[in-house]
Amino acid sequence: MFNRSRQRLAYWFTLSMGGILIFFATVVYSREGQDQLRSFDQSLYSRSKAIAAASSYRLEQTQEQAQRQWQVELAQSKSPDEIVYIRWYDAERRLQQFIGDASAQQSVGKLGFATIVDRQLRQATLPVYRQRQLIGYLQVAVSIAPVQAELQRTQLFLALGVPATLGLIGLAGWLLGGLAMQPIRRSYDQLQRFTADASHELRAPLAAILSNAQVGLLAPADDLVQPRQRLDKIVETTKRMNCLVNNLLFLARHDGLTAEVLESLDLVQLLQPLADDYAAAAAAAGLSFVSQFPNQFSNQSLCLRADPELLQQAVQNLLDNAIKYTAKGGKITLQVFTQSRRAIVQVEDSGIGIAPTDLPHIFDRFYRVDQARTRQTGGFGLGLAIAQQIVEAHGGQITVRSTLGQGSTFTIELPLKA
Ligand code: ADP
Repeated sequence: MFNRSRQRLAYWFTLSMGGILIFFATVVYSREGQDQLRSFDQSLYSRSKAIAAASSYRLEQTQEQAQRQWQVELAQSKSPDEIVYIRWYDAERRLQQFIGDASAQQSVGKLGFATIVDRQLRQATLPVYRQRQLIGYLQVAVSIAPVQAELQRTQLFLALGVPATLGLIGLAGWLLGGLAMQPIRRSYDQLQRFTADASHELRAPLAAILSNAQVGLLAPADDLVQPRQRLDKIVETTKRMNCLVNNLLFLARHDGLTAEVLESLDLVQLLQPLADDYAAAAAAAGLSFVSQFPNQFSNQSLCLRADPELLQQAVQNLLDNAIKYTAKGGKITLQVFTQSRRAIVQVEDSGIGIAPTDLPHIFDRFYRVDQARTRQTGGFGLGLAIAQQIVEAHGGQITVRSTLGQGSTFTIELPLKA
């Protein structure tokens, strides 16, 4: 699928860029042709004018004298071979004198510049005046071969250059297509993994519900205890499933935050009630709980723009984990302070810690260090992924430091309100 999309991208890229290139080459070629012809005509015109200036004098000479005169002039011109013929017509447009072309045209024809394609000539026909009176027409023709040779060189350059450039464009399209596909492939792989993990997680409770229901149904009619026990199990499993589905929905819905949902809030006011709740929960689990907030008289402002419920959820997930992964008698500390224009929330525990090999993965969705243990504690491996998603949606970041057997410290950094 990705290769096909990449090929299609490269194909369309080459087609569009190639179209632009060919259009551009055609424009350049035709402009080049026009420019060449213009400068060629200019030089032909100035040469014809020089010859015409002397024509009135020649008019009074015999044909042989005039031809001799022209030949001298041709010999003096820079490239005499180029001039193919010079013709002189009288005011009635009849041919009077000529040099260089035996098959001379009797009538003057069209005035101005003309191309004689079959003989590869460019011809200029100018009216000549003496004392404002038309005395005749001068016709000079030169070979157009130099312009054609130049244009052929341009043609050859374009004929080789355009396909070569098209090849390079195709290659660039293929490489760029690959680059463009990379993030899409990554997201696709992530989505695939996520869907597979979610289905896997949902399959186990569904199987448990089915088997409990079947066993409950098979119980003898007079046995009231067993169906009840099975129903209890079904309720328990359904609650777990509900929790998982809520988490999945949460991850799907809160991928980005809009400015409208953000409100200005004070972090201390937001987290103080949470600290009180967790102090009670930690005490119930046999743990000591310490919370440190900036003194209300200190001038440390902890105002930021955030979604209060989401931010509470992120800190709650860290505190839940601290309680889950710390053995009786351990200590949990919640600290809130500011550092270099950022608000810091730190959750530290003296629990089981995380091995260095697991640390890079613990924020991945469905990643659990000890599958068996976390199943007992009811974790799906989504708590940290959710916390990270929330923090990043607020423009912050979450990091962890941990030593196996000694404890972990999770740190949330959030930008303070400007
Ligand atoms: P779960 O819901 O399974 O706890 P989390 O995403 O919250 O999922 O955590 C992922 C894994 O990271 C957990 O399975 C656990 O092994 C490890 N972990 C998270 N927090 C802590 C902690 N404070 N101490 C030790 N291990 C932790």
